[in-house]
Amino acid sequence: MEKNQEQLQEVARGEKEFHGEASCPNCGSGKTVQTGSYVSSRDQCMVYEFRCSDCGQTFEISN
Ligand SMILES: [Zn+2]
Repeated sequence: MEKNQEQLQEVARGEKEFHGEASCPNCGSGKTVQTGSYVSSRDQCMVYEFRCSDCGQTFEISN
């Protein structure tokens, strides 16, 4: 998915790494890999993108 320039600048200022547990919502596995992060343009919160190593499901966590 393409990210616009504004979002990239926001990520540069924000926190890129998710600190906490990211469990897969599909299978419940804790073996997840962070694949990216961006700032939501709607509510300005950080969104962290993950992929599950067990089932391959991709999901997002926002804070
Ligand atoms: Zn999974």
